[in-house]
Amino acid sequence: MLHSYDAIILGAGAAGLHCAAMAGQMGARVLLLDHAAKVAEKIRISGGGRCNFTNRDTTPAQFLSDNPHFCRSALARYTPQDFIALLQRHGIGFHEKHRGQLFCDQGSERIIEMLLAECEAGSVERWQPCAVRAVRHGAAGYEVDTDRGSVSAPRLVVATGGLSIPKIGATDFGHRLARQFGHRIVEPRPALVPLTFPAQDWAPFAALAGLSLEVLIDAGSGKKRTRFLEDLLFTHRGLSGPAVLQVSSYWRPGEPITIDLAPGRDLATELKAAKARSKRQLGNELAAQLPQRLADTWVQRQGLDASLPMPQARDRDLEALGASLGGWQLQPDGSEGWRKAEVTAGGVDTRELNQQTMESRLQPGLHFIGEVTDVTGWLGGYNFQWAWASAAACATALAAR
Ligand code: FAD
Repeated sequence: MLHSYDAIILGAGAAGLHCAAMAGQMGARVLLLDHAAKVAEKIRISGGGRCNFTNRDTTPAQFLSDNPHFCRSALARYTPQDFIALLQRHGIGFHEKHRGQLFCDQGSERIIEMLLAECEAGSVERWQPCAVRAVRHGAAGYEVDTDRGSVSAPRLVVATGGLSIPKIGATDFGHRLARQFGHRIVEPRPALVPLTFPAQDWAPFAALAGLSLEVLIDAGSGKKRTRFLEDLLFTHRGLSGPAVLQVSSYWRPGEPITIDLAPGRDLATELKAAKARSKRQLGNELAAQLPQRLADTWVQRQGLDASLPMPQARDRDLEALGASLGGWQLQPDGSEGWRKAEVTAGGVDTRELNQQTMESRLQPGLHFIGEVTDVTGWLGGYNFQWAWASAAACATALAAR
């Protein structure tokens, strides 16, 4: 005889732990399984070890999906304030860093401890490490063969996350399981990831490695064109920092990205005005407006003489210099891939899920929550908020047997 539960949850990451705890506390008998030896590794490494666990300003506008309205209901029913209240009940301190991003004062480990305590309060049974060998739907509901034996439940929740960082346990298990039950997968691609450039195109900028500045960055085209005002970081191989991570989620191979390296300023006009009053050399004048290394690289890139006295600079050269700094267009040849991506864009097509309960419209009793779904947040705590909110939506359904 199979040992049976009200629900089996696959994946003890952010979404799986939160869903198990909530459903358990609402009275459901829950089994939570994860193949990794360590619990919730992504929470542990998130936010530089301090877990940017939500964003106060979360709205559906900060999420990408082929079905953009899907996330509305869950996000409205479980808000950042709900998760903050949970932290407060556990006496966990937090602080706001930047634009609504909330981080844990004492480090990510405190969030994991809190979720584990919540699971305990819900009498959740957790098997970890425990590999899943096969999943069937039969007379006993969902039958799951694991390396600790076979179990069954009328409801199965897939919370196995996305594909990024395979070395800490990410797999395509959730996508394969979804396909097994007839679901479509929106093509997964690495997101929130540094972009790379052909070595020969990048050579002139390699000297800028380590430089960081605020820029306005643009990617995508037509209705999908999106811009962010964020910090950009030059690296030896390409570009990183929040600005590039944000646009990477929108960028598609073959498309250019455009960067304004002096946002909110009209450098061409400023340089022409400086020409009338400044006796400085061109390189020094530009370095008074921008970081020195950036100024040097750009003067050289434009084929200009950095030692030219400003009064001798031609207007058209100053205009071209200003225009190229204000609209630097470049063509990535790829990204750093799954090894470095913070999240997976794409995933289980949400047009086939119920937005109230995260339940499959094709296969009753089967739910998908968290990053395995085609809902991807911007950088800044939005991905965890989706994990908590989709978990909460699903938990309510698990408990209402
Ligand atoms: P996960 O948390 O990835 O959990 C999935 C679980 O499923 C894992 O425990 C995994 O071991 C398990 N699993 C996988 N395959 C199987 C299988 N075959 N059998 C059994 N179990 C399986 N988001 C933010 O909002 N703020 C941040 O500060 C932030 N920082 C990040 C930093 C890094 C370096 C990375 C990689 C991501 C970061 N994210 C951040 C994104 C965030 O971690 C994820 O969006 C979130 O963890 C998704 O939750 P999840 O429960 O869906 O998946």
